[in-house]
Amino acid sequence: MEKRTEKPDWAKNIEAGLNGLKENEKECEKITELDYRDYAKTSYDLARKKYAGEMKAYQKALDAGYVIVDTIVNLPFKESAGLRLSKFFEALRGEARILALRCPECGRVIFPPRPVCGFCRITIGESSKDWLELRDTGTVTSIVLPTEREVDRATGRIVGEPNPCGFIRLDGGDEWTVLVHYLEMTNLEKLHRGMRVKAVWKPKEERRGRMTDIAFFRIVED
Ligand SMILES: [Zn+2]
Repeated sequence: MEKRTEKPDWAKNIEAGLNGLKENEKECEKITELDYRDYAKTSYDLARKKYAGEMKAYQKALDAGYVIVDTIVNLPFKESAGLRLSKFFEALRGEARILALRCPECGRVIFPPRPVCGFCRITIGESSKDWLELRDTGTVTSIVLPTEREVDRATGRIVGEPNPCGFIRLDGGDEWTVLVHYLEMTNLEKLHRGMRVKAVWKPKEERRGRMTDIAFFRIVED
């Protein structure tokens, strides 16, 4: 049998993965927050197990006489949003309105609309009386300031500039009606908890029935 000196791609990939882990672990030593460091270490242990499992699976296939080929699997995926969320997204897209449900039992506002109140375990949203409209203004309850550019989880591409995000409690709801969304790019010193914001909607022809139909929230003076 011909002796192979060059490592196959899968072996190189695993090796590169393990080397990457070593580098990350070195970085992880610098984390001062112990809980977070433990969390990171556990992740690396799991990744190492995953690579070991892969290695074993490949070797088993090779020992059985199979040839391993590299391939790319593309898995586009779509799912139905269901009746309640469909109504919610339709209202975003068609009318720039934010809908929510109120549980008739406990009075909590369910946002985004879901078919069951998680507290009372009853079906909601079948009666039009359960529906209400939130306003597109709100109060920022906390702020996230990213230091890295964002990666699109669907494609792995880096998108945009680091953009501040806010937890925004929308008017017309209750303490549960919190939305996480982009805040306007502004002087960071202007950002503070408790500030008032208002949605900036994309023009109708650009709206797709997604949360990103709201482009971002602008800071407004009350
Ligand atoms: Zn309820």
